Amino acid sequence: MIKYNILHYKEDCISCGACAAICPDFWEMDEEGMAHLKESHKVEDHWERQINSEDSRARNQEAAEACPVNIIKLQKID
Ligand code: SF4
Repeated sequence: MIKYNILHYKEDCISCGACAAICPDFWEMDEEGMAHLKESHKVEDHWERQINSEDSRARNQEAAEACPVNIIKLQKID
């Protein structure tokens, strides 16, 4: 099964809203106006969530490519 971690370096978010507009199933803007990856948990300096479908990977890849400060990363899990 395909498995990825989505990593979000939230502290550097500039609140542009692109990720939430492109991929609202996964991304929302929080009460402080920063992006939040739904169902993610904090790990050291970032937030993360595991996904396991090609469709989820593709949609989050789009969000990552749209992020102007490049703080959304997809990491393949072997
Ligand atoms: S696209 Fe990047 S900078 Fe814009 S709201 Fe999402 S995480 Fe923040």
